[in-house]
Amino acid sequence: MKSIMMGVGALVVGAALTAGPAVAQDKGLVGISMPTQSSARWISDGNSMVEQFEAAGFSTDLQYAEDDIPNQLAQIENMIVRGADALVIAAIDGTTLTGALETAAANGIPVIAYDRLIRGSENVDYYATFDNFQVGVQQGQSLLDGLGVGENEGPFNIELFGGSPDDNNAYFFYDGAMSVLQPYIDDGTLVVKSGQMGMDTVGTLRWDGSVAQARMDNLLSAYYSDDTVDAVLSPYDGLSIGIISSLKGVGYGSDDLPMPIISGQDAEIPSVKAILAGEQYSTIFKDTRELARVTVGMVSAVLEDAEPQINDTETYDNGVKVVPSYLLNPVLVTEENWEDVLVGSGYYTREQIVE
Ligand code: BGC
Repeated sequence: MKSIMMGVGALVVGAALTAGPAVAQDKGLVGISMPTQSSARWISDGNSMVEQFEAAGFSTDLQYAEDDIPNQLAQIENMIVRGADALVIAAIDGTTLTGALETAAANGIPVIAYDRLIRGSENVDYYATFDNFQVGVQQGQSLLDGLGVGENEGPFNIELFGGSPDDNNAYFFYDGAMSVLQPYIDDGTLVVKSGQMGMDTVGTLRWDGSVAQARMDNLLSAYYSDDTVDAVLSPYDGLSIGIISSLKGVGYGSDDLPMPIISGQDAEIPSVKAILAGEQYSTIFKDTRELARVTVGMVSAVLEDAEPQINDTETYDNGVKVVPSYLLNPVLVTEENWEDVLVGSGYYTREQIVE
């Protein structure tokens, strides 16, 4: 502990010499720790929170850890030393923050797990997220819709990708999708030619698109040299991009060899464009402005000793306690409804998608 505190002290001196913390407004300082800027959704989460916290009278310290766990820990420790009144954390690895959260608790600083559950710690006060199981259900259902299961005769070949095994959400997405797909695998309508199933086999560390691309390359050469893949379960747009590149590399996306039905998540602009180009079938829209709104509400309530609004007290057991949560609804996006959902809500302008 001593060496951690000394390290933190050195960081604070460094910070004081450079930019320095934002000057606290009346309601206090909120430390916002985000995982990475490599995906647009987290940038939008960060921006929405800064905007909404500041509008509510808080000052903010927003940090991105670029998917480096020690970096995220150092940033959080630094926020504590700077005198944060509350912490909002989207963890890179949901199990690595226990020590820092003990320090937060010892200093009376409430912690909100943002989008991703923080596991293995009692010092997580609330969880703001989307209905992660439902995200998976929507992804799985969209593959069935895209294939026309029920109308078109199978069997259809499908391959499965999972998210990062250190992110609790990845299991909810996978389980939600399999709740829809498994019965069709069992009755032979869907065939996983590789036989690769289960999060321990299909997980993609750090949600890395190039890892997904390499795995898709291997699947195509090992199992599809004389057959075609009809659908790919992808839990995140960044993975779908890697999967699509791999498929294009062996000729998919032509009249003779159409792209499989591919899912995604986050409605990132390149992937919405890929939907319009007929390369990706669906994505999931999670309105980060709404998640920010819920989070600002939670922090405001906790700091005023009031009860924040929650709508789930059962689902998110972090291994030590069930964390009281607020779950927002995800929305499936396809070629049919992208404009209504994404432009109609003001999340994007039409020009951002159709140049
Ligand atoms: C989020 C997803 C995101 C993924 C990769 C998950 O924890 O819930 O929205 O696609 O991380 O960044």
